[in-house]
Order: sequence, then structure tokens, then C-alpha cells
Amino acid sequence: MRSPHPRAGLSLFLAFTLLSVPVLAAEQQASAYSRAVAAYNERDLDAALRYAKEAVSERPGHADTHILLGQLYYLRQDLKRAKESWERALKLAPDRKDVKEALEKLGREAGIEKTMVHGDTHPFVLRFAEGQVPVESSFLREILRDAYRKIGQQFNYFPDHAIPVLLYSDSDFQKIKSLSHSVGGLYDGKIRLPLKPGSLNGDRLQAILWHEYTHAVVHDLSRGRCPMWLNEGIATSQEFRIKNVEVGRVRAALEQEKLPAWDLLWSESRYDQATLDLYYQTSFMITQYLVRRWSWKEMARLLERLGQGTPMRDALRAQYRTDPAVIEKEWRAWLRKNL
Ligand SMILES: [Zn+2]
Repeated sequence: MRSPHPRAGLSLFLAFTLLSVPVLAAEQQASAYSRAVAAYNERDLDAALRYAKEAVSERPGHADTHILLGQLYYLRQDLKRAKESWERALKLAPDRKDVKEALEKLGREAGIEKTMVHGDTHPFVLRFAEGQVPVESSFLREILRDAYRKIGQQFNYFPDHAIPVLLYSDSDFQKIKSLSHSVGGLYDGKIRLPLKPGSLNGDRLQAILWHEYTHAVVHDLSRGRCPMWLNEGIATSQEFRIKNVEVGRVRAALEQEKLPAWDLLWSESRYDQATLDLYYQTSFMITQYLVRRWSWKEMARLLERLGQGTPMRDALRAQYRTDPAVIEKEWRAWLRKNL
């Protein structure tokens, strides 16, 4: 039984809103700030941090620079510096509601996260609630290194920027998540998991971490432009390397001819458990089809096309040299044979 998992990147969209920066005038394009923004968009977060620091000394009165610098500190779990930068930004631009909200969120998280135990293993910045993790911390680090290596091999992508992994007690997780329903974990630029005593053994923890880490990889490769139906399918397919995935709902929907079209999956704002299960399972079977018919290598290329701004249908057509409607039709025929 899978725990429902929220729309990946839900809070990340907040992060991007925070950083939505105006198109720069020509004279600004060579500025350290514009180089920082470009590096940030390329997910080269270390370079982005260097340029953002430079940009702050170049133009200390520019609020957007402090916002970006704060965001970069936040993403590497340096909450103290993130807070200072955002407070400075708010002084310069007191009507920025998004910064105010980001500071409030940071305040809630900082209170909880300051008591957590550290256990970094590059590039993961690991924090967990003491005494709550169902495995030894050395094993936890081993799970992450293993995911980094094996998922990385599949996509030929190995991020070298910090990726915070925060494991909260269940009650603390409820305080920081911005979702109303129960979830097994989430990725919003950081991997966050609730540790539910009794329901989370080592295998389950490993499966959730693989799933969430895959979202981080997909996010980087697609620059946050991967639609949910593919994003969840890819994450569940990587999770599938650790544990079995139920497909009963998708089989039943297929028999009753109630299988939703790909681009209608995950289009509601709230889901009941049965719908969530159906969407995960359908997304999973879509990805299984794509990577079995083509390959993981082509999947990585498809994500990069999305990252370059190509719309989904065009990216599918270009990558698989097939009309997307035909791909979807052939997928249904494949499902009938393989479910
Ligand atoms: Zn997910």
C-alpha cells in the first residue's frame, strides 16, 4: 500500500515565484546578478552563490539580489544566512509579500530543524530527528549514496549542489508541510519525510528516499518543467527498483474503459485515496512503457528537452519520432497485453 504523495514541487513553485525576476535590461545583462540568475536556472547552485555574493557587494540596495542570495542559502540549509538575506530584502522592499511568507515559513522550519542531528554525506545535507529514524544513521547515509549512484547512472546525472534531506518526527512534519492530506514524503527543493513510528521500516524508508531523490533529479534535468503524470511515473519507476508497485487500480480502470488520458492525470486540486492510487499506478505504467519501448537514456533526453522549454507534446514527438497521440494509443494496446 503506497502512501499518497503530493504534487512534487508544490512548495517549489513558491520558491520560483519568490525568484521570478524581471527580464533584465541590456546594460544589466553582464552584471553579477544576471550571471547568478543564469547559474541558478542552470541548477549550478555553487556558481550562483558566488555570483550572488558578488552581486550583493556590487549593488547592496537591490532587493532581488538579497532575495536570490537568501534562496541559495536556504537551499543549502544555511537558514541563518537565508534569514539575514531575506530580512535585508524586506527592508529594501517592504511590500514583498512572498518574502514575508518565505521568512515565516523559514521561522517555523528553523525552530524545528535546529534540534535535528546532522549527518551529511555529499551532496546530501542530512538532518533528522534524534531517536526517530528506524535505521542507523550510517545506513541512512548508505541508502542516500546508493540512490545517488544508481539513479544517477540511469540518467547519467550526478548533482553536485547541496540537497537537504530532512527527516522530521510526524508531528513536526505536520507543522511544516503546506498540504492538507497525509503524505509519505515530499520534494520542494528539499527532500522532507515524516517518520511515523511503527509504520516505517528500513525498506519503506529506502523506497521513499529513492522516490523523492528521483524528483530532485527530474527537477534538475527538466528545470522544473516535467508534468506530474511523467514526474510521478519516473519517481515510482525508480522506487520500483526497491519494492513492488501495485497496479490493481489501473487494471480495473482499463477493464472498465475508464482510464484517464495522460494529460488529464493529476489535473484536480484535491484527490481521494482511490484517485491518488489510480494516478500513481497509471503514471507508473506510462513510464514503464516509455522506458521499455525506448530507454532510460532517451527519457533523460526527453527531460532535457523539457528543460530547454520545449512543450511536452513537441518534446515527445521529437524524442520518440512518433506522434504523441499514437504513442498513447499504442500504450493502451501494450497495457492490455501486459496487465
Ligand atoms: Zn512523488
